[in-house]
Amino acid sequence: MTSSILLQGGTVLYHDDEDYVTALSDTDVLVTGNLIAKIATGIEVPQGTTIIDCKGKIVSPGFIDTHHHLWQTQLKGRHMDETLLDYMVAGNMQSYNFTPEDMFWGQLAGCLEAIDAGTTYVLDHSHGNYTPEHATQCLSATTASGLRSTYAYATPSVPLTSWTVSTVVPSSDILSSWSLDQLESLAKSQPHANGRLTIGLGFDLYFLPQEVVIGIFERFRRAGVKVITSHVAKNPVFGKASTVELLDSYGLLGPDIVLSHATNLTFAEHAVLHAAKVHVSSTPSSEAQTALGWPVALRSDVHGSLGVDSHAFCGSSILSEARAALLLARQETNAALLDKGEFPQKLVGGAREAFNLATVGGARAVGMGDKIGRIREGYLADLVVVDGRTPGMAGVSSWDPVVAVVGHSGVRDVETVIVDGVVRKRGGKLVGVELEGGERLEWEGVAEKVERSREEVQRRIEGVNLEKARELVVGMWHVDESKIKAVEY
Ligand SMILES: [Zn+2]
Repeated sequence: MTSSILLQGGTVLYHDDEDYVTALSDTDVLVTGNLIAKIATGIEVPQGTTIIDCKGKIVSPGFIDTHHHLWQTQLKGRHMDETLLDYMVAGNMQSYNFTPEDMFWGQLAGCLEAIDAGTTYVLDHSHGNYTPEHATQCLSATTASGLRSTYAYATPSVPLTSWTVSTVVPSSDILSSWSLDQLESLAKSQPHANGRLTIGLGFDLYFLPQEVVIGIFERFRRAGVKVITSHVAKNPVFGKASTVELLDSYGLLGPDIVLSHATNLTFAEHAVLHAAKVHVSSTPSSEAQTALGWPVALRSDVHGSLGVDSHAFCGSSILSEARAALLLARQETNAALLDKGEFPQKLVGGAREAFNLATVGGARAVGMGDKIGRIREGYLADLVVVDGRTPGMAGVSSWDPVVAVVGHSGVRDVETVIVDGVVRKRGGKLVGVELEGGERLEWEGVAEKVERSREEVQRRIEGVNLEKARELVVGMWHVDESKIKAVEY
């Protein structure tokens, strides 16, 4: 029998056809199977339905994260005070020290941290795959977590053949055939995990010859990847070459592309992206820390969405990123006026625009605007219930529920999370997961596993030469070290 869930009597955040969010009070949402079946007041309860009392609570579309490296849990906290170059070596490159089993626990904990924060979909730029088994373990973990995701398959940005206490040897096999073959077969056999898991391409190798880049895009578009995603940001240290111009001149731009960051681009580059319906994922926390520049997601000339990027830098809440995007857009525009001795008449952006980046904007970015991102009959049942009566929410949730969610809610206020019609968080607590083979594990068990894995990864990291790896990155990426300056404050 098809399962059904009734979210009863909540305040439902409903997007109209113009994307304006209206709060429908005392409204029920009936979920049948994995779909939103009905939105109305006083829905008659079908037999066998699980009822979730939503009085005093806000029912929101699940949040959508369009740029995240979900494998990185064991690196959490190590990089809070590091620059981008430091992190590349001490963090990003450490996938070398992850076994496939480490990938599994990092990925599973990463997925669950996202669900805990109300995220129901992640575009996962998975760039830690040293072997086919690494990718297999990531996919297995995402499947077990229950998250909806597009697995944007990638290999390490700086692949190594060996890394010891005294040496680092880069691999000449940048585009290994096993990875291309595995990605192709995954793409052709998708969707996975009962339809929740689709396959994308994570690609950052634009230094390769034109015919190779075009060949990769053509091969994987033919194989049916849902999204192609790349890191794009211009700055004096990592180079000012235009990936946008390159993609445009190769004839590769299209609505299946999500560019993370897209910071410090010219107006002309943004115009090209906008016209080609390319979407951008701003990750305000990581962009602020790593000196990538002002987030662009709220700009009127950008098809915007939001991502967490690395949960090694910050928490996994898309609402936190929505707030940060709003504040930084205001900081940027206010500061420009203050610098001229002027003052803003009105602030840029608003709670509803920020909320839309986290919902409908994200859904469109990943080509799922007609399936997720809004509460609508016939849409997939990816829903979040936020408690409106917690200390943080009382006083604002009945004033304006959208402002309450964007401006005042925290992860602890996310009471229930439903993905694909299945409850994954209930009463403020993650529901246990079922691993391949049938073993059930509560969150505490996952935490124990990931902590143990973290210790082992850390021990291996202490056995590699970070200085030598830094020299390698500086050389390979033509980093202009003369531009790296001390900061005074
Ligand atoms: Zn990233």
